[in-house]
Amino acid sequence: MSLAQGRHYLAIPGPSVIPDRVLQAMHRPAPNIYTGELVEMTASIVRDLKAVARTKHDVAMYISNGHGVWEAALVNVLSRGDRILVLGTGRFCLGWGEVAKAMGVETEIIDFGIESDVDAAQVETALRADTEHKIKAVLVVQVDTATSVKNDITSIRAALDAAGHPALLMTDNIACLACDEFHMDDWGVDVMVTGCQKGLMTPPGMGFVFFNDRAAALRDSAGLVTPYWDWRPRANPEEYYKHFFGTAPTHHLYGLRTALDMILEEGIEAVWARHETLAGAIWAALDVWGQGGDIRANIAEPSKRSHAVTTVRMGSGHGQRLRTWLPDNLGVTLGIPLGPGRGGDTSPENLFRIGHMGHVNGQMVMGVLGAIETGMRALQIPHGAGGLEAAASRLAG
Ligand SMILES: *Cc1c(COP(=O)(O)O)cnc(C)c1O
Repeated sequence: MSLAQGRHYLAIPGPSVIPDRVLQAMHRPAPNIYTGELVEMTASIVRDLKAVARTKHDVAMYISNGHGVWEAALVNVLSRGDRILVLGTGRFCLGWGEVAKAMGVETEIIDFGIESDVDAAQVETALRADTEHKIKAVLVVQVDTATSVKNDITSIRAALDAAGHPALLMTDNIACLACDEFHMDDWGVDVMVTGCQKGLMTPPGMGFVFFNDRAAALRDSAGLVTPYWDWRPRANPEEYYKHFFGTAPTHHLYGLRTALDMILEEGIEAVWARHETLAGAIWAALDVWGQGGDIRANIAEPSKRSHAVTTVRMGSGHGQRLRTWLPDNLGVTLGIPLGPGRGGDTSPENLFRIGHMGHVNGQMVMGVLGAIETGMRALQIPHGAGGLEAAASRLAG
């Protein structure tokens, strides 16, 4: 007998659960890519992506994953030898900085470790020290998917403003767009990158770079720009072909159109609130389990945790035992730890991640938590009693 028979739940932080509606929208023959429905649909996708990002500025779409749009964002505003400030809070912004460095950009790194968010005061100090304004851009993730920390983008904007520094503020929202609250224009973000396979609930394969007029103005002098990654024709195409510098990702566009319909039907504020409540249920269970065992959320302060992903610490190697037991025994897959982080206990056997981004509801979260509690019983992992009750109380409101 296996209790893993039935619909498997891939509770990893991307790719996220793809809604049946999205899958069905993609199940069709190839459309004409020169005129007709696809062309009109693409215009509506551009409009709605901007609504989700809360920007009136431009978006360039790419056939690419997140790593591709990291590069796209950099090449349109930087030249070889330029300097940038990289704010590390785990894995992903450091990764973005490594890409920049490999392209000949000088990187200054402030690393806040793997259990903290960005301290804006330190950013302000670094920017004030740059009296010649050599730093062209500040790179930060809103959510680091390795540590599940959420950075306060408004405080980083305020640090730039307080220092009177003209550097661009560039954010990676790949993990959390349409999960955690975000307002590109109101928060003063100049460039934002994201992908389609997390909060946007579409199979991996499309990436987006949003950029405002300040960033757009730098495109002319950006020495790193190459034809494929150039955002200008993509954001302002005279011919449909220029949206993608070649054949459009036809089926992804159908899927994405449907995913955006789902987000807009629910309403972006309701989407954010759903993620917040579901995350709260997970944290409530962790708190209770932690009262009788070595289990806790990686980020101590709840207001600094993402609503899209939770990194969990479970000591004595239990994290890995639980994570390996669950798929074959109960049909749930949790996220692997991601490293290498710096500082703190980064042993992979003591960490796992729960993805709760995108197409996730109350019963799915209760199912994951129930599976985790069942696994802890089966593996005799010590934990406080009553985690599921705490989660249920949170969802019951
Ligand atoms: C997933 C993720 C990436 C990488 O995206 P890929 O599509 O895997 O290249 C980058 N940054 C963050 C914050 C992510 O969550």
